[in-house]
Amino acid sequence: MAVIFDKSVPGRKGVALPTCDVPCEPHIPDAYQRKTKLPLAELSELDVVRHFTGLSRLNFGVDTGFYPLGSCTMKYNPKITEVIAGLDGFANLHPFLPQLRHGGMLVQGALQVMHEFERVLCEVSGMSAFTLHPMAGAHGELAGMMLIAAYHRDKGNDKNEVLIPDEAHGTNPSSAAIAGYKTRSVPTNSETGMLDVEALAGMITDETAAIMLTNPNTLGIFNSDVAKVAEIAHQHDALVYYDGANLNAVLGKFRPGDAGIDVMHINLHKTFATPHGGGGPGSGPVGVQKHLEPYLPISRVEKRKDSTYSLEYNYPKTIGYIAPFYGNFLILLRAYAYTMLLGGKGLTEVSENAVLNANYVMHRLKDVYDLPYDQPCMHEFVLSARRQTANGVHALDVAKALIDRGFHPPTVYFPLIVKEAMMIEPTECESRETLDAFADAMREIAALAETAPESLQAAPVSTSVSRPDELKAAKAMDFAAAQD
Ligand SMILES: *Cc1c(COP(=O)(O)O)cnc(C)c1O
Repeated sequence: MAVIFDKSVPGRKGVALPTCDVPCEPHIPDAYQRKTKLPLAELSELDVVRHFTGLSRLNFGVDTGFYPLGSCTMKYNPKITEVIAGLDGFANLHPFLPQLRHGGMLVQGALQVMHEFERVLCEVSGMSAFTLHPMAGAHGELAGMMLIAAYHRDKGNDKNEVLIPDEAHGTNPSSAAIAGYKTRSVPTNSETGMLDVEALAGMITDETAAIMLTNPNTLGIFNSDVAKVAEIAHQHDALVYYDGANLNAVLGKFRPGDAGIDVMHINLHKTFATPHGGGGPGSGPVGVQKHLEPYLPISRVEKRKDSTYSLEYNYPKTIGYIAPFYGNFLILLRAYAYTMLLGGKGLTEVSENAVLNANYVMHRLKDVYDLPYDQPCMHEFVLSARRQTANGVHALDVAKALIDRGFHPPTVYFPLIVKEAMMIEPTECESRETLDAFADAMREIAALAETAPESLQAAPVSTSVSRPDELKAAKAMDFAAAQD
């Protein structure tokens, strides 16, 4: 595909400015002036519009098609929340506006949103307080591990390790390690697909600072032993971190705080529809119980006696700043609007439909692909393409063949404990027709794996780039090289 420079024609212009009729004095000293022409593409306005519109149409998004990328919850983001986030009074607020008096009334609404949204998060999770600052799930995990470290330091506890189930999300061990902990992996019970509680009880020591639970775990299975895990942890003065990135599976059904969880994060970009973006702008608020509140990052929004709101900074035991200003405010606002639009009943239905849709697709596919953990699933499930490997077809080939059929592929080769994993998360937003169309495509691909495996190995054939060398694509950012 041509890049914009290939379309450049010397002398072609998008705008023609009239010749200057006043003396044109350069303000930049001669020494700093560019001596050669700026190497830009020379194009008409129409060339530029067609080029970038063309590029945008190569992109795949939730707004263009079904996107069952497991663990990522690529659900539809209702446009009403975009309208709300675009309101002048929110979108154009400057973070340095004064809180009270002159101009103070300009920020009271934003502070109220943050204060009320914190209460919403406490209500859905059963935690006692939240910080809204972390800008992604992994950032929330790190903040949570820093809170745990601060708590142990304050109590004079000498602890150096964190236990993490092997079915946890990959960011968990990284976050624990960045917070300065050694990590050890707790095995999964091969029958239930849940953390092996007996193994945990045998592994935990007085050196253990925390256990990090992903629930539902990356197999899409709900761990019903949460309270038991918390009890074991607390006997050793260890805390329990709950990775609630996918709380969209249990809204209105289960509150981690009620099961003895000490710290957790919620991914707003998965639980409540907000855009994910590439590496952001996400949001991963962290909730804590009372005993960890003193360590929360600053600032915090407090409600005064006269019902105005203020940002407060004076908490002697705080871990300090973990993000500039107040987090991704407009993402918080979208999520707040989403929760207000749906209410408690609507949020419960979100989870019910997410779970129903996942189980429906799972049942339509489990006779043609292996289902290593054959259990009712939550919001997602993990199939394996290991049966298809007998014909030389791998999870990657299934994923690529889906692209030709108009679907975004599922997450493949994750979680690591399933060979040839395909992690499918339909989300609650999709209609029965869309789910059926996807299941039909998956079944057609399974049939082709037996009759014409080479057609799958050649996929995708409908895209401008078929199978780039993924290593080169990341390490040698050269379009031509990546293709050969
Ligand atoms: C997505 C996810 C994360 C990481 O969230 P980011 O916002 O991508 O940093 C962590 N844990 C689980 C279980 C997730 O699904």
